[in-house]
Amino acid sequence: MKKITPTIATERNYTVEKEKNLPISSYFGEDTFNDKLMQAKLPKVFYNKLRDSIDTGKNLDIETANAVAHAMKEWALEMGATHFAHWFQPMTGASAEKHDAFIEIIGPGEVIERFTGEQLVQGEPDASSFPSGGLRSTFEARGYTAWDMSSPAFLRKNGIGITLCIPSVFISYHGEALDKKTPLLRSILAVNRSALRILKLLGNRKTKKIVSNLGPEQEYFCIDMDYFYKRQDMVLTGRTIVGAAPAKGQELEDQYFGSIKERMQSFMHDTEEELYKLGIPAKTRHNEVAPSQFEIAPIFEDANIAVDHNVLVMEKLQQVARQHNMAVLLHEKPFAGINGSGKHLNWSLSTDDGINLFKPGKTPHDNIQFLVFLLATLKAVYRHADLLRASVGSAANDHRLGANEAPPAIISVFLGEQLTRILESIEKGVASDASDMSIINLGISSLPIVSRDNSDRNRTSPFAFTGNKFEFRAVGSSQNISFPATVLNTIMAESLDEVSELIEKHKGENIKQAVLDIMKEELPKVKAILYQGDNYSEEWHREAEKRGLPNLRTAPEAFRAMDTDKARKLFEKYGVLSPVELKSRYTIRIEKYCKDIEIEAKALCNISSSQIVPSAVSYQKELAESIIRTEKALGQDADLGAQKKLLKRISELISGTQESLSDLKALLATAATYHEQARADYLCAEVRSAMGEIRKKVDELENHVADHQWPMPKFWEMLFVN
Ligand code: ADP
Ligand code: MG
Repeated sequence: MKKITPTIATERNYTVEKEKNLPISSYFGEDTFNDKLMQAKLPKVFYNKLRDSIDTGKNLDIETANAVAHAMKEWALEMGATHFAHWFQPMTGASAEKHDAFIEIIGPGEVIERFTGEQLVQGEPDASSFPSGGLRSTFEARGYTAWDMSSPAFLRKNGIGITLCIPSVFISYHGEALDKKTPLLRSILAVNRSALRILKLLGNRKTKKIVSNLGPEQEYFCIDMDYFYKRQDMVLTGRTIVGAAPAKGQELEDQYFGSIKERMQSFMHDTEEELYKLGIPAKTRHNEVAPSQFEIAPIFEDANIAVDHNVLVMEKLQQVARQHNMAVLLHEKPFAGINGSGKHLNWSLSTDDGINLFKPGKTPHDNIQFLVFLLATLKAVYRHADLLRASVGSAANDHRLGANEAPPAIISVFLGEQLTRILESIEKGVASDASDMSIINLGISSLPIVSRDNSDRNRTSPFAFTGNKFEFRAVGSSQNISFPATVLNTIMAESLDEVSELIEKHKGENIKQAVLDIMKEELPKVKAILYQGDNYSEEWHREAEKRGLPNLRTAPEAFRAMDTDKARKLFEKYGVLSPVELKSRYTIRIEKYCKDIEIEAKALCNISSSQIVPSAVSYQKELAESIIRTEKALGQDADLGAQKKLLKRISELISGTQESLSDLKALLATAATYHEQARADYLCAEVRSAMGEIRKKVDELENHVADHQWPMPKFWEMLFVN
């Protein structure tokens, strides 16, 4: 037998050792100051006080805050952190942080590490450079950050720097929300109040708190970093603004759920390891429909934590990709002609004792409860379809919505066959009495758990019931999910209150009967929102118009829904956004839209005039010289018809591009004379189509100019070389 030399054996063992992955559970959450750590590191009395504040939202007393800060600092130092930061989500949507070293001067040339309760609980970043959408002119520029105790502090490792991040809300001195988290937290409280009220009416005395749950399925593209940096459009706008369609796109459907390539799998693994350390329960990963497109989805969590985690997922994907010399594209439409990326936002409400209120139950009573929440959802979506559409509006998402790859801009609800049938029979009034017999006849004695196959088949619906949750599919991949979730919770709070009022009118009656009667009366008013067919079809667009459903095709059109009395009343009544706060969000979305389009347009001008046209001109010159020389050499025998035609076409395209470029520049100058909504409308109507004109010519040039002379990577390279 051949003897394995010890060196080889050691080497092999070493490799195996190095590559063996630890069980996730052994390090899950190790970079967070989580409940287990708090319990271990804090004296019991402080732990109890902290726990109480986390659960009830009460302020921490300064003594407890000091104790928590001390424990947190000790832990963070042990883990190698040098700085701390209040980590928050300003209205830009990304996250923000201002780092402070833990140091304090104690004598000449001498420092110690210190972190006080005050520093933990409150920070004071200068708010003046964050977008405030007009809030600043009305109020003071300064804002402060306050620790959101419901979300655990975590360590942010970036290169060799380690920072203790304290999830925070960001508010002005007068209490106006300057961030995305505050309204979300308020909406969680609003839906909590309204849901508890209705549960009480339904006879539930046990439930103390309602939890909003979110499970965002994050789609993204991942391409080689070298290509990314060679494209100005990618670097500046996150997408390709020119680029001819490749010979192969996604038509072979060989990517979806296909086996994951090695390089990609390693990247996913490294990313997930980072996420697990941060206590983010990343659960599924797979190839998506388009080439080089992927999805990562965590297990759903409390809405406020899910929002923080989704922001971290987006950041980690990008950060870890760089380490693998790849670039993650979160843009909703990085490549024209190829599916874009969304973020299906799974949403449900559950009780503190773990009952999912969107889950059809086993007893008629449970099902009555389910029907009440279903009715409330339908009413909410029907009334505020425009707001839901606005909540997902952006220049980027406009490329997806309604483009036969993502739900259309028309919001409708998909319930699946069984539920639709049940609602129809309730509406027809099959149940004249709510005896158990008629409930059985109605099919609601034990609602079949709607099978996933059944409910999931309709991928074209923007708002689909998927067994025990609703899936809001129109959300964009790059978006912060706070606002869509805030809208969902708030419209649900309003709608639940309305149903409560209706139930209260039936006081003293059999509750089941009352609910069925109410449903019978209310369903006809809102059923226009229900659609079970193909949302991509022309037929649906016509049908939706007949039904009077809003079809807000573009973001600027959709944003108007945030500037209505209906919206102002809704958000004000539920204490989620004051009219001024709402206005600021509307303004910021409009501003962002304008900036996005203007940056794209300017990048297009620059790319076309400094890269495309020069390349095309050199090729034109080469071709022209070649024609002259060939003519000289072959004389009458030269057959140059086709080449001359090509030369003519190229020169037409070059001058056409240049003409279109000056048109675009003129339009941009006009746009600059408009403001706010009018500017967005103008950019949307005029500038976008002018950009389209340039692109058509540039993309045709791409197919004519010699490959080695084309100044940037092409789609086939970016999408298939990895
Ligand atoms: P898919 O929709 O792709 O079939 P799943 O339905 O399994 O995938 O889940 C998608 C996301 O929905 C996951 O993040 C999952 O944790 C989340 N989810 C599952 N149940 C709920 C729920 N009750 N409330 C909110 N999100 C949920
Ligand atoms: Mg899903």
